[in-house]
Amino acid sequence: MAEILIVEDEPSINELIRRNLGLKGHHCTQAFDGNEAITFLCQKNFDLVILDIMLPGADGYEVFDQVHGIPVIFLTAKSGLSDKLRVLGRGADDYITKPFQMLELAARVEAVLRRTKKSETYFELDHVRLDYGRRMIFVDEKPVDCTPKEYELFETLVKNRNIALSREKLLDLVWGYDFGGGTRTVDVHIQRLRAKLGLDERIVTVYKLGYRLEAPV
Ligand code: CA
Repeated sequence: MAEILIVEDEPSINELIRRNLGLKGHHCTQAFDGNEAITFLCQKNFDLVILDIMLPGADGYEVFDQVHGIPVIFLTAKSGLSDKLRVLGRGADDYITKPFQMLELAARVEAVLRRTKKSETYFELDHVRLDYGRRMIFVDEKPVDCTPKEYELFETLVKNRNIALSREKLLDLVWGYDFGGGTRTVDVHIQRLRAKLGLDERIVTVYKLGYRLEAPV
């Protein structure tokens, strides 16, 4: 069961979503305008937000700015590519274009919940623990002093464990396409991670390519 906030100003659509997700065993809170949604977000913890863009009061983008660390599925009446790119670029987990099939929305809700459920809060390898929720790394239960980029690099290696990642790919995933620095940046950060985490044997260099985190499957 998940706590879901539905933000949709059209009462019939809001109610349709609530009824269907209720049948799946989820508990839904309904907001019919953006300001109401922001109030709920301050009062309560949700596992997922379903968020319309065109709303009275604050619009969907403004509501989204108040969502911290909760997955969001945008509902958008606009099918234009720029809107889809805009919501995904801002870090939304998914979007669905109206009019939509309830079955499709329900399937996407389950997929997002599966990806983000609390069982995925930790990753452990040898003496190292990655805490996704707090964005921290622990070695022998002690927090490691690492920079945000070092954290993101390790999280990226963990999410793609046992897969060889090129330096260019790591640059794109961690630093972004518009980063001006070279691939040497990746090598420097890998060296620091190995030293800080004591994972020399696990973070392996892939000849002429990049790096791979080796972890038991
Ligand atoms: Ca609307």
